[in-house]
Amino acid sequence: MLELGWGLCGKMGINWECFKHMFMKPFTKLYPKEKVITYPKTRGRIKFDSSKCIGAKECVKNCPAYAIKYIGKGKLEFDMGKCIFCGLCVDMCPTGAISFEGKFDYASNKKEKLVVKS
Ligand code: SF4
Repeated sequence: MLELGWGLCGKMGINWECFKHMFMKPFTKLYPKEKVITYPKTRGRIKFDSSKCIGAKECVKNCPAYAIKYIGKGKLEFDMGKCIFCGLCVDMCPTGAISFEGKFDYASNKKEKLVVKS
């Protein structure tokens, strides 16, 4: 039976790796029906704690995508449409006011909706 199956696979151009995956549970999720569990260090949307901000502007100075706009102490605008999730703002913030929250499903067909204001 296995030989027959294997022979058929060979004729169909299916290799062993492909064949064994036909009987395995899929790795992909049926998103958005199935909830995707993110890891603690997943880089998703920026989370900003305005109470920790001292106005050092290190995030603004170091952002390679110019995605952060400084409005005032404790007030920033993050344009997630420009962000490349490099993590420099998170690393450079002296007080830890910026972090990634792991939320990745915030797609929009309007650019304005990708701007996160604090
Ligand atoms: S993660 Fe990188 S690109 Fe995104 S806002 Fe921070 S510094 Fe800018």
